[in-house]
Amino acid sequence: MSSNLINEIDIVKANTSKISSVDFENLTFGNIFTDHMLICDFKEGAWQKPIIKPYEPFMIDPSAKVFHYGQAIFEGMKAYKDESDDVWLFRPDENFKRFNHSAKRLAMPKVTEDIFIGGLKAILDLEREWVKKGKGNTLYIRPFMIAIGSGVIAQPSTQYRFMIILSPARSYYSGEVKVIIAEHYSRAANGGIGAAKAAGNYSAQFYPTKLANERGFQQIIWTDDATHTKLEEAGTMNVFFRINDTLYTAPTGERILDGVTRKSLIDIARRDGIDVEVRSLLVAELIEAAKDGSLKEIFGAGTAAVVNPIVGFSYQDNYYELPKMDNSYASQLKEKLTNIQYKLAEDTFGWTV
Ligand code: PMP
Repeated sequence: MSSNLINEIDIVKANTSKISSVDFENLTFGNIFTDHMLICDFKEGAWQKPIIKPYEPFMIDPSAKVFHYGQAIFEGMKAYKDESDDVWLFRPDENFKRFNHSAKRLAMPKVTEDIFIGGLKAILDLEREWVKKGKGNTLYIRPFMIAIGSGVIAQPSTQYRFMIILSPARSYYSGEVKVIIAEHYSRAANGGIGAAKAAGNYSAQFYPTKLANERGFQQIIWTDDATHTKLEEAGTMNVFFRINDTLYTAPTGERILDGVTRKSLIDIARRDGIDVEVRSLLVAELIEAAKDGSLKEIFGAGTAAVVNPIVGFSYQDNYYELPKMDNSYASQLKEKLTNIQYKLAEDTFGWTV
């Protein structure tokens, strides 16, 4: 197959649109999908012609490898609409690169830029009405790939399906976020798949997170699997800690996802004179800072949640509350990031596409 498959894309339009039945003011994250989806299959060693068609269920064989061995990866991105009704993506090249990094780790084929970025632009063009104007309104984009080849032998599939689905969204978490610092369970280990957006990384977090929820906490801040002494990241967010006026965030690597929001916030903070140290903060340092009052803020950063302040954390059955801050780094950085995303501020970094 040629390398410019997107030029040959088949578009089958839905007869009617669901859009008028959607209450855009009251959206639950990730529950409603737009009228169309993109599908591109990989077989006989090559990507086939992509198609955009009405959003609907599809059939795959019960023995498909995705069901048995979890060969599945995904991305999470957003489209934003500016005041002139133009639709923007934020650093989509980063998601494209990360997707193929995940694909490699799960022994899946790389997707071409033409299919990933070109396909995304094609489906967004069709669904632009679903991207609503106004800060906070976004269209969440979920590209993913699953192994659809049949047969329960435990080896990589020879057939895959790449898809893009779109869901109108406001922010991910509503209400206060309290976290537990992980003492027993781990999200990732060196040599594992923590740096990939692999489906299994998320299902593995569900049980410990359920236990945390039962105790009244929304999220877990994961620590390193070997010693549980270094602070790493949360469910679907990288994490920042502010001690006095310095921000700390863990370096990404084999165990921590290289978040686009994280790296953008580091650049914005440094540009504006905030001291950022990229190193793993120790749990012991966090507790000491909480006790002596130098711990000012903890916040999560990710595409879905944007910037999410954490109001308190639990460690070894002690609960530590964060102070209420006026003009917090979290609120300043969120404002600056979203101003770039919605084209309300000049994008000096060249991030918007
Ligand atoms: N960590 C994990 C485990 C995630 O799933 C996500 C969401 N993709 C993030 C961090 C934040 O990454 P990003 O800013 O690219 O959304």
